[in-house]
Amino acid sequence: LENQPIPPLASEILASEISASEILAKIPGATTDLARAEAVWSTLRAGPAGAIAPVMTQNNHPLASAPEWDVVICGGTLGIFLGLTLVKRGWKVLLLERGQIQGRRQEWNISRAELEVLVRLDLLSLQELEAVIATEFNPVRIQFEGGDPVWVENVLNLGVSPLRLLALLKQKFLQAGGTIQEHTAFEGIEIHPNGVEIATSQGPLRSRLMLDAMGHGSPLVRQARAQERPDAVCLVVGTCATGFEGAEGASTQGDLIVSFTPIQNQCQYFWEAFPAEDGRTTYLFTYLDTHPDRISLTQLFEAYCQLLPQYQGTPLQHLTFQRALFGVFPSYRRSPLPPLGDRILPVGDSSGAQSPLSFGGFGAMLRHLERLSFGLDEALAADLLDRQALGWLQPYQPNLSVTWLFQRSMSVGINQTLGPDQINQTLSGVFAQMSALGEPTLKPFLQDVVQFPGLFQTLLRTGLLRPWLVLKILPQVGLGSLVTWLGHYAALAGYSLLARAPGFANNRGQSPALQSGQSIRFHGRFYWRRFQDALHYGSGRDYHDC
Ligand SMILES: Cc1cc2nc3c(=O)[nH]c(=O)nc-3n(C[C@H](O)[C@H](O)[C@H](O)COP(=O)(O)OP(=O)(O)OC[C@H]3O[C@@H](n4cnc5c(N)ncnc54)[C@H](O)[C@@H]3O)c2cc1C
Repeated sequence: LENQPIPPLASEILASEISASEILAKIPGATTDLARAEAVWSTLRAGPAGAIAPVMTQNNHPLASAPEWDVVICGGTLGIFLGLTLVKRGWKVLLLERGQIQGRRQEWNISRAELEVLVRLDLLSLQELEAVIATEFNPVRIQFEGGDPVWVENVLNLGVSPLRLLALLKQKFLQAGGTIQEHTAFEGIEIHPNGVEIATSQGPLRSRLMLDAMGHGSPLVRQARAQERPDAVCLVVGTCATGFEGAEGASTQGDLIVSFTPIQNQCQYFWEAFPAEDGRTTYLFTYLDTHPDRISLTQLFEAYCQLLPQYQGTPLQHLTFQRALFGVFPSYRRSPLPPLGDRILPVGDSSGAQSPLSFGGFGAMLRHLERLSFGLDEALAADLLDRQALGWLQPYQPNLSVTWLFQRSMSVGINQTLGPDQINQTLSGVFAQMSALGEPTLKPFLQDVVQFPGLFQTLLRTGLLRPWLVLKILPQVGLGSLVTWLGHYAALAGYSLLARAPGFANNRGQSPALQSGQSIRFHGRFYWRRFQDALHYGSGRDYHDC
Protein backbone atom coordinates (compact mmCIF):
# COMPACT_ATOMS: atom_id res chain seq x y z
CA LEU A 1 0.00 0.00 0.00
CA GLU A 2 2.80 2.39 0.87
CA ASN A 3 3.85 2.55 -2.74
CA GLN A 4 0.44 2.85 -4.28
CA PRO A 5 0.63 5.46 -7.06
CA ILE A 6 -1.44 8.62 -7.05
CA PRO A 7 -4.21 8.86 -9.67
CA PRO A 8 -3.22 8.72 -13.35
CA LEU A 9 -2.87 11.90 -15.33
CA ALA A 10 -5.87 13.17 -17.28
CA SER A 11 -4.05 12.50 -20.52
CA GLU A 12 -3.82 8.82 -19.61
CA ILE A 13 -7.55 8.25 -19.58
CA LEU A 14 -10.37 8.87 -22.00
CA ALA A 15 -11.34 12.50 -22.38
CA SER A 16 -14.79 13.13 -20.96
CA GLU A 17 -17.54 13.99 -23.39
CA ILE A 18 -20.26 14.40 -20.80
CA SER A 19 -20.93 17.83 -19.35
CA ALA A 20 -21.95 18.61 -15.77
CA SER A 21 -25.42 19.71 -16.90
CA GLU A 22 -25.92 16.44 -18.79
CA ILE A 23 -25.01 14.50 -15.65
CA LEU A 24 -27.39 16.59 -13.55
CA ALA A 25 -30.19 16.12 -16.06
CA LYS A 26 -29.85 12.33 -15.76
CA ILE A 27 -30.23 12.27 -11.94
CA PRO A 28 -33.80 12.78 -10.67
CA GLY A 29 -34.03 15.85 -8.42
CA ALA A 30 -30.38 16.84 -8.85
CA THR A 31 -31.03 20.15 -10.62
CA THR A 32 -33.50 21.18 -7.92
CA ASP A 33 -31.10 20.15 -5.13
CA LEU A 34 -28.31 22.15 -6.73
CA ALA A 35 -30.55 25.21 -7.15
CA ARG A 36 -31.58 24.97 -3.49
CA ALA A 37 -27.98 24.73 -2.26
CA GLU A 38 -26.91 27.46 -4.70
CA ALA A 39 -29.58 29.77 -3.23
CA VAL A 40 -28.17 29.17 0.29
CA TRP A 41 -24.64 29.91 -0.95
CA SER A 42 -25.79 33.10 -2.79
CA THR A 43 -27.49 34.34 0.37
CA LEU A 44 -24.32 33.77 2.40
CA ARG A 45 -22.21 35.60 -0.20
CA ALA A 46 -24.68 38.50 -0.25
CA GLY A 47 -23.97 39.12 3.44
CA PRO A 48 -26.22 39.94 6.41
CA ALA A 49 -29.69 40.92 5.26
CA GLY A 50 -30.25 43.47 8.03
CA ALA A 51 -33.07 43.33 10.57
CA ILE A 52 -35.21 40.17 10.51
CA ALA A 53 -38.49 39.53 12.31
CA PRO A 54 -37.57 37.87 15.63
CA VAL A 55 -38.90 34.35 16.20
CA MET A 56 -37.86 34.38 19.86
CA THR A 57 -39.41 36.83 22.30
CA GLN A 58 -39.36 37.28 26.07
CA ASN A 59 -42.43 37.46 28.30
CA ASN A 60 -41.93 38.24 31.98
CA HIS A 61 -45.28 36.74 33.07
CA PRO A 62 -45.44 33.04 34.00
CA LEU A 63 -47.25 30.66 31.66
CA ALA A 64 -50.96 30.49 32.52
CA SER A 65 -50.74 26.70 33.05
CA ALA A 66 -47.83 24.34 33.72
CA PRO A 67 -45.90 23.11 30.68
CA GLU A 68 -47.18 19.78 29.33
CA TRP A 69 -43.71 18.73 28.11
CA ASP A 70 -40.32 18.56 29.79
CA VAL A 71 -38.55 18.87 26.45
CA VAL A 72 -39.73 19.78 22.96
CA ILE A 73 -37.12 19.02 20.31
CA CYS A 74 -37.59 20.89 17.04
CA GLY A 75 -35.96 19.05 14.11
CA GLY A 76 -36.02 15.28 13.78
CA THR A 77 -32.73 14.37 12.10
CA LEU A 78 -30.06 14.57 14.82
CA GLY A 79 -32.74 15.68 17.30
CA ILE A 80 -34.02 12.12 17.65
CA PHE A 81 -30.74 10.92 19.19
CA LEU A 82 -31.15 13.22 22.19
CA GLY A 83 -34.88 12.61 22.15
CA LEU A 84 -34.34 8.92 22.74
CA THR A 85 -31.72 9.33 25.48
CA LEU A 86 -33.97 11.77 27.35
CA VAL A 87 -37.14 9.75 27.01
CA LYS A 88 -35.24 6.71 28.29
CA ARG A 89 -34.34 8.73 31.37
CA GLY A 90 -38.01 9.30 32.05
CA TRP A 91 -38.57 12.79 30.65
CA LYS A 92 -41.70 13.73 28.70
CA VAL A 93 -40.36 14.46 25.25
CA LEU A 94 -42.07 15.72 22.09
CA LEU A 95 -40.23 15.60 18.79
CA LEU A 96 -41.45 18.13 16.27
CA GLU A 97 -40.54 17.83 12.59
CA ARG A 98 -41.76 19.98 9.71
CA GLY A 99 -41.44 17.07 7.27
CA GLN A 100 -41.10 13.41 8.13
CA ILE A 101 -38.53 11.83 10.40
CA GLN A 102 -36.73 9.91 7.75
CA GLY A 103 -33.03 9.58 6.98
CA ARG A 104 -31.58 10.20 3.54
CA ARG A 105 -30.23 7.43 1.28
CA GLN A 106 -26.68 8.77 1.23
CA GLU A 107 -24.56 7.20 3.99
CA TRP A 108 -22.98 9.04 6.87
CA ASN A 109 -19.34 8.05 7.20
CA ILE A 110 -18.03 7.51 10.68
CA SER A 111 -15.67 5.29 12.68
CA ARG A 112 -16.83 2.27 14.64
CA ALA A 113 -15.41 3.64 17.88
CA GLU A 114 -17.53 6.80 17.44
CA LEU A 115 -20.65 4.81 16.57
CA GLU A 116 -20.40 2.56 19.62
CA VAL A 117 -21.74 5.31 21.85
CA LEU A 118 -25.19 4.19 20.64
CA VAL A 119 -24.63 0.85 22.34
CA ARG A 120 -23.02 2.38 25.45
CA LEU A 121 -26.09 4.58 25.88
CA ASP A 122 -28.33 1.57 25.27
CA LEU A 123 -29.99 3.18 22.26
CA LEU A 124 -29.13 0.21 20.00
CA SER A 125 -28.12 -3.38 20.63
CA LEU A 126 -24.95 -4.72 18.99
CA GLN A 127 -27.07 -6.55 16.39
CA GLU A 128 -29.03 -3.39 15.62
CA LEU A 129 -25.78 -1.47 15.26
CA GLU A 130 -24.55 -3.98 12.68
CA ALA A 131 -27.85 -3.71 10.83
CA VAL A 132 -27.49 0.04 10.25
CA ILE A 133 -23.92 -0.25 8.94
CA ALA A 134 -24.22 -0.30 5.16
CA THR A 135 -20.51 -0.50 4.30
CA GLU A 136 -17.23 -1.17 6.05
CA PHE A 137 -13.85 -0.79 4.38
CA ASN A 138 -10.19 -0.25 5.16
CA PRO A 139 -7.75 1.43 4.78
CA VAL A 140 -8.29 5.12 4.00
CA ARG A 141 -5.76 7.37 2.34
CA ILE A 142 -4.45 10.87 2.98
CA GLN A 143 -2.36 12.30 0.15
CA PHE A 144 -1.45 15.69 -1.25
CA GLU A 145 0.11 16.47 -4.63
CA GLY A 146 3.84 15.92 -4.45
CA GLY A 147 3.69 13.91 -1.21
CA ASP A 148 3.60 10.23 -0.31
CA PRO A 149 0.30 8.61 0.63
CA VAL A 150 -0.42 8.01 4.31
CA TRP A 151 -2.78 5.09 4.97
CA VAL A 152 -4.76 4.69 8.17
CA GLU A 153 -7.30 2.16 9.35
CA ASN A 154 -10.65 2.63 11.05
CA VAL A 155 -11.20 6.33 10.36
CA LEU A 156 -14.53 7.23 8.68
CA ASN A 157 -14.46 3.69 7.35
CA LEU A 158 -18.09 2.83 8.07
CA GLY A 159 -21.00 3.98 5.97
CA VAL A 160 -24.09 4.16 8.17
CA SER A 161 -27.50 4.16 6.51
CA PRO A 162 -29.37 7.23 7.85
CA LEU A 163 -32.53 5.69 6.42
CA ARG A 164 -32.25 2.53 8.54
CA LEU A 165 -30.80 4.29 11.59
CA LEU A 166 -33.50 6.94 11.87
CA ALA A 167 -36.28 4.40 11.21
CA LEU A 168 -34.97 2.29 14.11
CA LEU A 169 -34.53 5.24 16.46
CA LYS A 170 -38.01 6.50 15.62
CA GLN A 171 -39.50 3.13 16.49
CA LYS A 172 -37.52 2.97 19.76
CA PHE A 173 -38.41 6.53 20.68
CA LEU A 174 -42.12 5.76 20.33
CA GLN A 175 -41.78 2.45 22.22
CA ALA A 176 -40.00 4.26 25.07
CA GLY A 177 -42.96 6.65 25.43
CA GLY A 178 -41.82 9.60 23.29
CA THR A 179 -44.28 11.57 21.16
CA ILE A 180 -43.71 12.58 17.55
CA GLN A 181 -45.50 15.33 15.66
CA GLU A 182 -44.53 15.26 11.98
CA HIS A 183 -45.53 17.79 9.34
CA THR A 184 -45.50 20.39 12.08
CA ALA A 185 -43.23 23.40 11.71
CA PHE A 186 -41.72 25.47 14.48
CA GLU A 187 -42.80 29.09 13.95
CA GLY A 188 -41.73 30.99 17.04
CA ILE A 189 -41.03 30.80 20.77
CA GLU A 190 -41.94 32.96 23.75
CA ILE A 191 -39.85 32.56 26.88
CA HIS A 192 -41.67 32.82 30.21
CA PRO A 193 -40.11 32.48 33.68
CA ASN A 194 -41.57 28.97 34.16
CA GLY A 195 -41.45 27.58 30.61
CA VAL A 196 -41.65 28.36 26.91
CA GLU A 197 -44.63 28.63 24.59
CA ILE A 198 -43.79 27.34 21.14
CA ALA A 199 -45.85 28.48 18.16
CA THR A 200 -46.19 25.73 15.55
CA SER A 201 -48.09 25.28 12.32
CA GLN A 202 -50.48 23.04 14.31
CA GLY A 203 -50.98 25.36 17.29
CA PRO A 204 -49.12 26.30 20.50
CA LEU A 205 -47.22 23.96 22.87
CA ARG A 206 -45.76 24.55 26.31
CA SER A 207 -42.52 23.03 27.52
CA ARG A 208 -39.88 23.45 30.20
CA LEU A 209 -37.07 23.27 27.65
CA MET A 210 -36.72 23.51 23.88
CA LEU A 211 -33.86 21.95 21.91
CA ASP A 212 -33.19 23.54 18.53
CA ALA A 213 -32.13 20.74 16.16
CA MET A 214 -33.25 22.54 12.99
CA GLY A 215 -29.82 22.56 11.36
CA HIS A 216 -27.85 25.42 9.83
CA GLY A 217 -31.06 26.98 8.52
CA SER A 218 -32.77 27.09 11.93
CA PRO A 219 -34.94 30.22 12.30
CA LEU A 220 -33.43 30.70 15.78
CA VAL A 221 -29.90 30.57 14.39
CA ARG A 222 -30.90 33.05 11.70
CA GLN A 223 -32.03 35.40 14.46
CA ALA A 224 -28.93 34.81 16.59
CA ARG A 225 -26.50 35.24 13.70
CA ALA A 226 -28.50 37.85 11.73
CA GLN A 227 -25.65 40.35 11.71
CA GLU A 228 -22.81 37.83 11.27
CA ARG A 229 -21.13 36.61 8.12
CA PRO A 230 -19.79 33.06 8.46
CA ASP A 231 -16.06 33.20 9.08
CA ALA A 232 -15.61 30.36 6.62
CA VAL A 233 -17.60 27.97 4.51
CA CYS A 234 -16.90 24.47 3.35
CA LEU A 235 -18.49 23.87 -0.06
CA VAL A 236 -19.08 20.27 -1.05
CA VAL A 237 -20.24 18.71 -4.32
CA GLY A 238 -20.27 15.04 -5.18
CA THR A 239 -22.08 12.02 -6.44
CA CYS A 240 -22.67 8.39 -5.66
CA ALA A 241 -22.14 6.30 -8.77
CA THR A 242 -21.48 2.78 -9.98
CA GLY A 243 -18.99 1.89 -12.69
CA PHE A 244 -15.73 2.41 -10.76
CA GLU A 245 -15.32 -1.35 -10.46
CA GLY A 246 -12.22 -1.38 -12.69
CA ALA A 247 -10.41 1.10 -10.43
CA GLU A 248 -8.16 -0.48 -7.82
CA GLY A 249 -9.67 -0.55 -4.33
CA ALA A 250 -12.98 1.02 -5.47
CA SER A 251 -15.01 -1.17 -3.15
CA THR A 252 -12.43 -1.77 -0.42
CA GLN A 253 -10.58 1.53 0.12
CA GLY A 254 -11.50 5.10 0.86
CA ASP A 255 -9.90 8.50 0.67
CA LEU A 256 -10.13 10.74 3.70
CA ILE A 257 -8.52 13.74 2.06
CA VAL A 258 -6.64 13.83 -1.23
CA SER A 259 -5.56 16.68 -3.48
CA PHE A 260 -3.90 16.39 -6.83
CA THR A 261 -4.29 19.83 -8.41
CA PRO A 262 -2.73 23.22 -7.67
CA ILE A 263 -4.79 26.17 -6.42
CA GLN A 264 -7.37 27.19 -9.01
CA ASN A 265 -10.28 29.67 -8.89
CA GLN A 266 -8.71 30.88 -5.59
CA CYS A 267 -9.56 27.47 -4.13
CA GLN A 268 -7.61 24.40 -3.16
CA TYR A 269 -9.71 21.42 -4.16
CA PHE A 270 -9.79 18.41 -1.82
CA TRP A 271 -11.34 15.04 -2.52
CA GLU A 272 -12.94 12.33 -0.46
CA ALA A 273 -14.11 8.91 -1.66
CA PHE A 274 -15.93 6.08 0.10
CA PRO A 275 -17.31 2.72 -0.98
CA ALA A 276 -21.10 2.99 -0.60
CA GLU A 277 -24.06 0.63 -0.68
CA ASP A 278 -25.14 2.02 -4.06
CA GLY A 279 -21.67 2.36 -5.62
CA ARG A 280 -18.89 4.74 -4.68
CA THR A 281 -19.29 8.21 -3.20
CA THR A 282 -16.86 10.90 -4.31
CA TYR A 283 -16.83 14.43 -2.94
CA LEU A 284 -14.93 17.52 -4.00
CA PHE A 285 -14.72 20.07 -1.20
CA THR A 286 -13.00 23.37 -0.59
CA TYR A 287 -12.71 25.95 2.19
CA LEU A 288 -13.35 29.60 1.45
CA ASP A 289 -14.75 32.86 2.79
CA THR A 290 -18.08 34.37 1.70
CA HIS A 291 -16.72 37.06 -0.62
CA PRO A 292 -19.34 37.85 -3.33
CA ASP A 293 -16.84 36.95 -6.08
CA ARG A 294 -16.38 33.39 -4.86
CA ILE A 295 -16.99 30.43 -7.16
CA SER A 296 -20.59 29.20 -7.40
CA LEU A 297 -21.64 25.65 -6.53
CA THR A 298 -22.50 25.11 -10.20
CA GLN A 299 -18.94 26.03 -11.18
CA LEU A 300 -17.59 23.75 -8.47
CA PHE A 301 -19.71 20.89 -9.78
CA GLU A 302 -18.34 21.55 -13.28
CA ALA A 303 -14.81 21.32 -11.87
CA TYR A 304 -15.82 18.10 -10.11
CA CYS A 305 -17.05 16.54 -13.37
CA GLN A 306 -13.95 17.66 -15.19
CA LEU A 307 -11.51 16.30 -12.59
CA LEU A 308 -13.33 13.15 -11.44
CA PRO A 309 -11.95 10.96 -14.26
CA GLN A 310 -8.43 11.98 -13.34
CA TYR A 311 -9.09 11.43 -9.64
CA GLN A 312 -10.62 7.97 -9.90
CA GLY A 313 -9.04 6.81 -13.13
CA THR A 314 -12.47 6.11 -14.63
CA PRO A 315 -14.04 8.02 -17.55
CA LEU A 316 -17.41 9.62 -16.84
CA GLN A 317 -18.91 7.56 -19.67
CA HIS A 318 -18.35 4.41 -17.60
CA LEU A 319 -20.31 5.72 -14.61
CA THR A 320 -23.98 5.41 -13.73
CA PHE A 321 -24.87 8.20 -11.36
CA GLN A 322 -27.25 7.29 -8.53
CA ARG A 323 -27.46 10.72 -6.94
CA ALA A 324 -25.74 14.09 -6.75
CA LEU A 325 -24.83 15.68 -3.42
CA PHE A 326 -24.37 19.32 -2.49
CA GLY A 327 -23.51 20.92 0.82
CA VAL A 328 -22.84 24.44 2.11
CA PHE A 329 -21.41 24.29 5.62
CA PRO A 330 -20.95 27.69 7.25
CA SER A 331 -18.70 27.94 10.28
CA TYR A 332 -18.31 30.74 12.78
CA ARG A 333 -15.53 31.55 15.17
CA ARG A 334 -18.27 32.28 17.74
CA SER A 335 -18.94 28.58 18.23
CA PRO A 336 -20.50 26.62 19.73
CA LEU A 337 -23.43 29.03 19.61
CA PRO A 338 -24.43 30.00 23.16
CA PRO A 339 -28.10 29.53 24.09
CA LEU A 340 -30.26 32.30 22.63
CA GLY A 341 -32.22 32.69 25.82
CA ASP A 342 -33.39 30.82 28.90
CA ARG A 343 -34.77 27.33 28.23
CA ILE A 344 -33.43 27.07 24.66
CA LEU A 345 -30.37 25.09 23.60
CA PRO A 346 -29.06 24.60 20.05
CA VAL A 347 -27.88 21.04 19.29
CA GLY A 348 -26.55 19.39 16.12
CA ASP A 349 -25.63 21.60 13.15
CA SER A 350 -27.52 24.59 14.56
CA SER A 351 -25.09 24.68 17.51
CA GLY A 352 -22.03 25.07 15.27
CA ALA A 353 -20.29 22.50 17.50
CA GLN A 354 -18.61 20.71 14.60
CA SER A 355 -15.09 21.44 13.47
CA PRO A 356 -14.65 24.04 10.68
CA LEU A 357 -12.50 21.41 8.96
CA SER A 358 -15.15 18.76 8.59
CA PHE A 359 -18.68 18.36 7.36
CA GLY A 360 -19.29 15.53 9.79
CA GLY A 361 -22.18 16.87 11.86
CA PHE A 362 -23.48 13.36 12.58
CA GLY A 363 -20.06 12.41 13.94
CA ALA A 364 -19.95 15.58 16.04
CA MET A 365 -23.35 14.77 17.53
CA LEU A 366 -22.29 11.24 18.46
CA ARG A 367 -19.05 12.52 19.98
CA HIS A 368 -21.03 14.77 22.33
CA LEU A 369 -24.07 12.55 22.83
CA GLU A 370 -23.04 11.17 26.23
CA ARG A 371 -22.03 14.58 27.52
CA LEU A 372 -25.24 16.22 26.31
CA SER A 373 -27.47 13.39 27.49
CA PHE A 374 -26.07 13.38 31.05
CA GLY A 375 -25.89 17.18 31.14
CA LEU A 376 -29.47 17.71 29.96
CA ASP A 377 -30.74 15.03 32.34
CA GLU A 378 -29.05 16.78 35.24
CA ALA A 379 -30.17 20.25 34.11
CA LEU A 380 -33.79 19.05 33.97
CA ALA A 381 -33.51 17.28 37.33
CA ALA A 382 -32.03 20.36 39.01
CA ASP A 383 -34.32 22.73 37.06
CA LEU A 384 -31.25 24.60 35.91
CA LEU A 385 -32.62 25.77 32.57
CA ASP A 386 -31.62 29.40 32.46
CA ARG A 387 -29.35 30.68 29.74
CA GLN A 388 -26.26 30.71 31.91
CA ALA A 389 -26.67 27.10 33.10
CA LEU A 390 -27.47 25.84 29.60
CA GLY A 391 -24.40 27.68 28.32
CA TRP A 392 -22.36 25.12 30.24
CA LEU A 393 -23.76 22.44 27.95
CA GLN A 394 -22.17 24.06 24.89
CA PRO A 395 -18.94 25.32 26.46
CA TYR A 396 -15.84 26.84 24.89
CA GLN A 397 -13.61 24.08 23.49
CA PRO A 398 -10.04 25.16 22.80
CA ASN A 399 -9.39 22.03 20.77
CA LEU A 400 -12.15 23.14 18.41
CA SER A 401 -10.95 26.73 18.28
CA VAL A 402 -7.36 25.80 17.37
CA THR A 403 -8.62 24.13 14.19
CA TRP A 404 -9.47 27.55 12.78
CA LEU A 405 -5.86 28.21 11.90
CA PHE A 406 -5.59 24.87 10.10
CA GLN A 407 -8.65 25.78 8.11
CA ARG A 408 -7.06 29.13 7.20
CA SER A 409 -3.88 27.40 6.08
CA MET A 410 -5.97 25.21 3.75
CA SER A 411 -7.72 28.13 2.04
CA VAL A 412 -6.77 31.13 -0.10
CA GLY A 413 -8.06 34.68 0.38
CA ILE A 414 -9.99 36.03 -2.58
CA ASN A 415 -7.24 38.55 -3.35
CA GLN A 416 -4.35 36.56 -1.96
CA THR A 417 -1.45 35.41 -4.12
CA LEU A 418 -0.02 32.09 -3.05
CA GLY A 419 2.30 29.75 -4.91
CA PRO A 420 0.07 27.28 -6.80
CA ASP A 421 1.37 24.36 -4.71
CA GLN A 422 1.76 26.10 -1.37
CA ILE A 423 -1.20 24.43 0.33
CA ASN A 424 -0.23 21.00 -1.02
CA GLN A 425 3.35 21.47 0.16
CA THR A 426 2.24 22.60 3.63
CA LEU A 427 -0.13 19.69 4.06
CA SER A 428 2.31 17.12 2.71
CA GLY A 429 4.95 18.44 5.10
CA VAL A 430 2.73 18.52 8.17
CA PHE A 431 1.15 15.11 7.52
CA ALA A 432 4.57 13.56 6.97
CA GLN A 433 5.52 14.73 10.48
CA MET A 434 2.25 13.51 11.97
CA SER A 435 2.66 10.17 10.27
CA ALA A 436 6.21 9.89 11.64
CA LEU A 437 4.82 10.52 15.12
CA GLY A 438 2.46 7.59 14.64
CA GLU A 439 -1.21 6.78 15.02
CA PRO A 440 -1.70 8.27 18.52
CA THR A 441 -1.02 11.68 16.93
CA LEU A 442 -2.55 11.12 13.52
CA LYS A 443 -5.81 9.35 14.28
CA PRO A 444 -7.41 11.71 16.81
CA PHE A 445 -6.58 14.63 14.50
CA LEU A 446 -8.20 12.90 11.54
CA GLN A 447 -11.33 12.43 13.62
CA ASP A 448 -11.51 16.13 14.52
CA VAL A 449 -10.23 15.57 18.05
CA VAL A 450 -7.15 17.72 18.48
CA GLN A 451 -5.03 16.88 21.54
CA PHE A 452 -2.26 19.04 22.92
CA PRO A 453 0.59 16.47 23.03
CA GLY A 454 0.12 15.48 19.38
CA LEU A 455 -0.28 19.04 18.21
CA PHE A 456 2.75 20.22 20.18
CA GLN A 457 4.98 17.46 18.80
CA THR A 458 3.78 18.01 15.23
CA LEU A 459 4.47 21.74 15.40
CA LEU A 460 7.84 21.17 17.00
CA ARG A 461 8.92 18.60 14.41
CA THR A 462 7.63 20.70 11.51
CA GLY A 463 9.32 23.82 12.88
CA LEU A 464 12.64 22.03 13.33
CA LEU A 465 12.66 19.86 10.21
CA ARG A 466 10.78 22.09 7.74
CA PRO A 467 11.09 25.65 9.05
CA TRP A 468 10.45 27.14 5.58
CA LEU A 469 6.91 25.70 5.70
CA VAL A 470 6.18 27.59 8.89
CA LEU A 471 7.63 30.79 7.41
CA LYS A 472 5.36 30.46 4.38
CA ILE A 473 2.22 29.85 6.44
CA LEU A 474 2.64 32.97 8.58
CA PRO A 475 1.85 35.56 5.87
CA GLN A 476 -0.87 33.28 4.49
CA VAL A 477 -2.87 33.13 7.73
CA GLY A 478 -1.99 36.64 8.95
CA LEU A 479 -0.63 37.94 12.24
CA GLY A 480 -4.05 38.59 13.80
CA SER A 481 -5.18 35.00 13.27
CA LEU A 482 -1.89 33.72 14.64
CA VAL A 483 -2.13 35.78 17.82
CA THR A 484 -5.74 34.64 18.39
CA TRP A 485 -4.67 31.08 17.73
CA LEU A 486 -1.86 31.31 20.29
CA GLY A 487 -4.49 32.15 22.90
CA HIS A 488 -6.48 29.00 22.04
CA TYR A 489 -3.28 26.95 21.94
CA ALA A 490 -2.37 28.15 25.44
CA ALA A 491 -5.91 27.38 26.60
CA LEU A 492 -5.60 23.88 25.12
CA ALA A 493 -2.39 23.36 27.08
CA GLY A 494 -4.11 24.55 30.26
CA TYR A 495 -7.21 22.39 29.68
CA SER A 496 -5.02 19.34 28.99
CA LEU A 497 -3.10 19.81 32.22
CA LEU A 498 -6.18 20.41 34.34
CA ALA A 499 -8.16 17.57 32.75
CA ARG A 500 -5.50 15.14 33.98
CA ALA A 501 -5.14 16.66 37.43
CA PRO A 502 -6.43 14.56 40.34
CA GLY A 503 -9.88 15.74 41.38
CA PHE A 504 -10.53 17.48 38.05
CA ALA A 505 -10.63 14.39 35.88
CA ASN A 506 -13.99 13.45 34.47
CA ASN A 507 -14.73 10.22 36.34
CA ARG A 508 -18.18 9.51 35.02
CA GLY A 509 -17.01 6.00 34.25
CA GLN A 510 -16.73 5.29 37.98
CA SER A 511 -19.62 7.34 39.32
CA PRO A 512 -22.85 6.79 37.41
CA ALA A 513 -24.93 9.73 36.27
CA LEU A 514 -27.92 10.79 38.30
CA GLN A 515 -30.97 8.70 37.66
CA SER A 516 -34.02 10.36 36.19
CA GLY A 517 -36.21 12.05 38.73
CA GLN A 518 -33.45 12.10 41.35
CA SER A 519 -32.99 15.67 42.52
CA ILE A 520 -29.63 17.34 42.73
CA ARG A 521 -29.23 18.80 46.18
CA PHE A 522 -26.49 21.13 45.30
CA HIS A 523 -26.50 23.10 42.09
CA GLY A 524 -22.77 23.30 42.54
CA ARG A 525 -22.56 19.65 41.58
CA PHE A 526 -24.18 20.40 38.20
CA TYR A 527 -21.67 23.15 37.49
CA TRP A 528 -18.73 21.04 38.70
CA ARG A 529 -19.65 18.21 36.37
CA ARG A 530 -20.06 20.58 33.45
CA PHE A 531 -16.67 22.08 34.23
CA GLN A 532 -15.16 18.58 34.21
CA ASP A 533 -16.89 17.89 30.90
CA ALA A 534 -15.58 21.15 29.42
CA LEU A 535 -12.02 20.17 30.39
CA HIS A 536 -12.44 16.60 29.21
CA TYR A 537 -13.93 17.38 25.80
CA GLY A 538 -12.13 20.69 25.31
CA SER A 539 -8.79 18.88 25.63
CA GLY A 540 -9.79 15.94 23.41
CA ARG A 541 -9.70 13.35 26.21
CA ASP A 542 -13.03 12.04 24.97
CA TYR A 543 -11.25 10.38 22.05
CA HIS A 544 -11.98 6.66 21.84
CA ASP A 545 -9.52 4.70 19.73
CA CYS A 546 -10.51 1.59 17.87
C1 LIG B 1 -23.29 15.93 1.12
C2 LIG B 1 -23.22 15.72 2.59
C3 LIG B 1 -22.47 14.68 3.12
C4 LIG B 1 -22.37 14.49 4.49
N1 LIG B 1 -21.63 13.44 4.98
C5 LIG B 1 -21.51 13.27 6.31
C6 LIG B 1 -20.76 12.19 6.83
O1 LIG B 1 -20.22 11.38 6.06
N2 LIG B 1 -20.63 12.06 8.17
C7 LIG B 1 -21.23 12.93 9.04
O2 LIG B 1 -21.04 12.81 10.25
N3 LIG B 1 -21.98 13.95 8.57
C8 LIG B 1 -22.13 14.15 7.23
N4 LIG B 1 -22.89 15.17 6.75
C9 LIG B 1 -23.46 16.12 7.70
C10 LIG B 1 -24.77 15.65 8.29
O3 LIG B 1 -25.65 15.24 7.28
C11 LIG B 1 -25.36 16.81 9.08
O4 LIG B 1 -24.42 17.23 10.03
C12 LIG B 1 -26.63 16.41 9.78
O5 LIG B 1 -27.62 16.08 8.85
C13 LIG B 1 -27.12 17.58 10.62
O6 LIG B 1 -28.30 17.21 11.23
P1 LIG B 1 -29.20 18.29 11.98
O7 LIG B 1 -30.36 17.55 12.51
O8 LIG B 1 -28.41 19.10 12.92
O9 LIG B 1 -29.63 19.30 10.81
P2 LIG B 1 -30.39 18.95 9.47
O10 LIG B 1 -29.87 17.75 8.82
O11 LIG B 1 -30.40 20.23 8.70
O12 LIG B 1 -31.85 18.61 9.95
C14 LIG B 1 -32.68 19.60 10.49
C15 LIG B 1 -34.05 19.01 10.68
O13 LIG B 1 -34.89 20.01 11.20
C16 LIG B 1 -36.08 20.07 10.43
N5 LIG B 1 -36.58 21.45 10.47
C17 LIG B 1 -35.99 22.53 9.90
N6 LIG B 1 -36.73 23.62 10.13
C18 LIG B 1 -37.78 23.22 10.89
C19 LIG B 1 -38.91 23.90 11.44
N7 LIG B 1 -39.11 25.22 11.27
N8 LIG B 1 -39.79 23.19 12.17
C20 LIG B 1 -39.59 21.83 12.37
N9 LIG B 1 -38.58 21.14 11.85
C21 LIG B 1 -37.68 21.84 11.11
C22 LIG B 1 -35.68 19.62 9.04
O14 LIG B 1 -36.77 19.14 8.29
C23 LIG B 1 -34.67 18.54 9.36
O15 LIG B 1 -35.25 17.27 9.57
C24 LIG B 1 -23.05 15.36 5.38
C25 LIG B 1 -23.84 16.38 4.85
C26 LIG B 1 -23.95 16.55 3.48
C27 LIG B 1 -24.82 17.66 2.93
